[in-house]
Amino acid sequence: MAVATQLNHKKELRSVPPPKLPSIVDIKNAIPAHCFTKDTFTSVRYLIQDLLLMAALYLILSPVERYFGWVGLFAWYWAYGFVGFALFLIGHDTGHGSFSDYEWLNDICGHIAHAPLLVPYWPWQKSHRQHHQFTAHLEKDRGHAWITEKKYNSRSWLKRSFAAFPLSGWLIFTPLYTVFGWPDGSHYWPFSRLFDNNIERLKCAFSATCCLICGYTAYALLGYSVYNWFKYYYIPLSFQGFVLYMVTYLQHRDVDIEVYEPEEWQFVRGQTQTIDRKYGFGLDTLMHHVTDGHVAHHFFFTKIPHYHLMDATEGIKKVLKPYENTPYGYKSDSNYDFFFKFLHYRTKLDYLINKSKGVLQHRVGVEGERAARKNH
Ligand SMILES: [Zn+2]
Ligand SMILES: [Zn+2]
Repeated sequence: MAVATQLNHKKELRSVPPPKLPSIVDIKNAIPAHCFTKDTFTSVRYLIQDLLLMAALYLILSPVERYFGWVGLFAWYWAYGFVGFALFLIGHDTGHGSFSDYEWLNDICGHIAHAPLLVPYWPWQKSHRQHHQFTAHLEKDRGHAWITEKKYNSRSWLKRSFAAFPLSGWLIFTPLYTVFGWPDGSHYWPFSRLFDNNIERLKCAFSATCCLICGYTAYALLGYSVYNWFKYYYIPLSFQGFVLYMVTYLQHRDVDIEVYEPEEWQFVRGQTQTIDRKYGFGLDTLMHHVTDGHVAHHFFFTKIPHYHLMDATEGIKKVLKPYENTPYGYKSDSNYDFFFKFLHYRTKLDYLINKSKGVLQHRVGVEGERAARKNH
């Protein structure tokens, strides 16, 4: 009965003609030319900077713990989360090829950045590319799967509660996403559904081995103590995983963003549903502006290095200006309350429903719009 109602509802959906949006060439032309220049020296300098910051965190760990106890350690975990994310971002750029024009250098630096964070470089490069190629595509966007009403209702109570439970954010990237492969396939297991051929499987084996070597080295350096390994390596890494999950989530989730069924999806249309968010407190600079320059990153993920994202954003703002009052305008928000916003949205944005034929929006967004129309 419920399925039949849903089908009838779908049949009744209004078809809205797709908008005339600028082409990717129009958008490129609006961005200053220097933004597309990769400077290998600058890229390597940022990698070294983030590695030094990580080393500095370990250097201050013992005095922090001695003088400030568990409170100090908790603050240190958060600092580790953000610095770890910065290092992760460098590996992310190498995976996109926006680090340098040399693939061999990108691959080496990518492993240097990602393996200590226990992220298998090549497998994650693949799953992340699918997220960029199909942003806001109902079926093909990877990373954070889109949840439809049907999918939501078929989930067990446990799965629904887990998704809304605040602490789940610390587990979702590692180990659930990368190790257990929920939902895109394991990034550690060469025979998981993420890979299509033997070259990809070999690459997975190599990248995963690098991670295991790093994990074991940390275990040896921490006196072969499982307790220390968790306390000073794995738990700090779970904060990095949390920051990564929160940042990615907030870049692509909001009350009024749209998601498209295959026949309505189009590259530019999908990318316009990305949101720039300012975290403040110097965090945007620390995290290489992938937060407040995410829209620019999405349009030209293989071409614009992180140090040009803010200049490129100015061009994007101009070219999307005529769409300001439509769902396709440039989207940005100041989110100094990012942590609470994330927790709030995780419970509020439960599932997507159709707004028009082939176009979906979060339930709260569609219901809010309907209520506003009624009141007018
Ligand atoms: Zn993204
Ligand atoms: Zn990316």
